[in-house]
Amino acid sequence: MKTPRATRIPCDGPADLCVGLRAIVLRRTPKLDAELGVEARKRFRCVILNAFPRSLLMTWENGAGPATKRHYGRWCAGEWVTNGPLVTLQWSIEEVRRNYVFHLFLHELGHINQPRFHSARRREEFAENFALEWAERLGELPPGLTI
Ligand SMILES: [Zn+2]
Repeated sequence: MKTPRATRIPCDGPADLCVGLRAIVLRRTPKLDAELGVEARKRFRCVILNAFPRSLLMTWENGAGPATKRHYGRWCAGEWVTNGPLVTLQWSIEEVRRNYVFHLFLHELGHINQPRFHSARRREEFAENFALEWAERLGELPPGLTI
């Protein structure tokens, strides 16, 4: 079994937010995460970011509903293309960068900084709101996005 490569990056975010952060891991997307559409995870005090497709094309094989389009449409102004059940969204490099740093990373950092909620839904809401609030504070909310 191959040992995954991990990259340690110092956190440049506000110091108080990063106290509990031990590492940021950038990795090739595992098969299970690809099947489940998982882009990032928190493991203990580490943020794990899965790779974005080299094609810059995000693909849904069974369609994309309004919630999915709203979620990704906030961070990507690309065109949604539907071809039968296949739906694709083309990203620019700048949109991917902004999504990773100011959405995915801050979302997972929100999980590290969140109170202990029993409800998974409350944990996700907290982390998502944490990311959006900090993206706004840092001046990195995509144009037109309000929280
Ligand atoms: Zn989450």
